Amino acid sequence: MSVKKPDYYHKKFSKLRLDRVPNRWQANTNHCAPYKPFLLLAMMDLIAQAQITTNVIELNADLIDAFDLYWIKVMGKDKQRNPVLPFYHLKSDGFWHLHALSGMEQALATSSKIHTYKQFYSVIKGATLDEELYTLVQDAQERDKLRQILIETYFSPETRPILVEVGTITAQSFEYSRELVHRSRGTFTLQEAPELDQRYMAESRTAGFRQVIVKTYHQTCAVCKIRIVTPEGFTAVEAAHIVPWNISHNDDPRNGLALCGFHHWAFDKGLIGITPDYNILISPVVPTNDPATRALRALHEHKMLLPDDELLYPHEKALKWHYAKKYREEVPSHLL
Ligand SMILES: [Zn+2]
Repeated sequence: MSVKKPDYYHKKFSKLRLDRVPNRWQANTNHCAPYKPFLLLAMMDLIAQAQITTNVIELNADLIDAFDLYWIKVMGKDKQRNPVLPFYHLKSDGFWHLHALSGMEQALATSSKIHTYKQFYSVIKGATLDEELYTLVQDAQERDKLRQILIETYFSPETRPILVEVGTITAQSFEYSRELVHRSRGTFTLQEAPELDQRYMAESRTAGFRQVIVKTYHQTCAVCKIRIVTPEGFTAVEAAHIVPWNISHNDDPRNGLALCGFHHWAFDKGLIGITPDYNILISPVVPTNDPATRALRALHEHKMLLPDDELLYPHEKALKWHYAKKYREEVPSHLL
């Protein structure tokens, strides 16, 4: 078998088999369906950040997030985004090889359409690239060349800068999350409004902080311990700052907590506090005589969920600040 040269893949990337229906796809994507280019760009972003380190591409939360960011920035939030489609259909381009879950080989071989997450995860384990292509995308310059081919072939000149920016946001968010973990090894400073870190775009900082916090708490709310992840990789938890970001500008993981939407709101409003020894407090402002608030009140004086790594525990200074400035210890007289 002959060894395939880079040119072979340059050609393959410029001739992807895509849906080309002018009425369906607009001029910004040169009237082509952008699914496959987005997935290949997202895959290369993760390879560049060492988030994919073997020739097994999985449809995991990182790949879905990276794909979604391209989709949202170029196509908007309205048009349905679905990375399952390109992941499955790239098999027709000759360099992307699907692998079935054990026992599902026949189901994959005879499938003609896999378009939902449910179908995907019940049949497909992942994909591998041609060995030559996998080797090629390890090299930064070759990766840039392939990115450029995708961007210039499938997107209008006005759209191209957006794609470059998305690649930068993804790269920076991983760099920033690594830096935050490193920062957590140093002294914790509770400075109010220190200098903004100008090296990173705001979006990269938000995404990087979220990555660290959500992973540190295993996608689980530190207060109620609820853990729900949808098949698309969406999780019920948010990355919360203990000392609010607009005051502290501090993304140190020790100034963070993973909280579900409701407990994030309650924590920010001072209805939940956490003691320096990590006990949850429920403010007396939460009605005691209402059966509907019983579940919230029941968390009072329970231990919060702590990270595996002690160095990432919430910092005492941050918790004390929140308790002193935000937590509502007393019921205001008009509510009595
Ligand atoms: Zn919760």
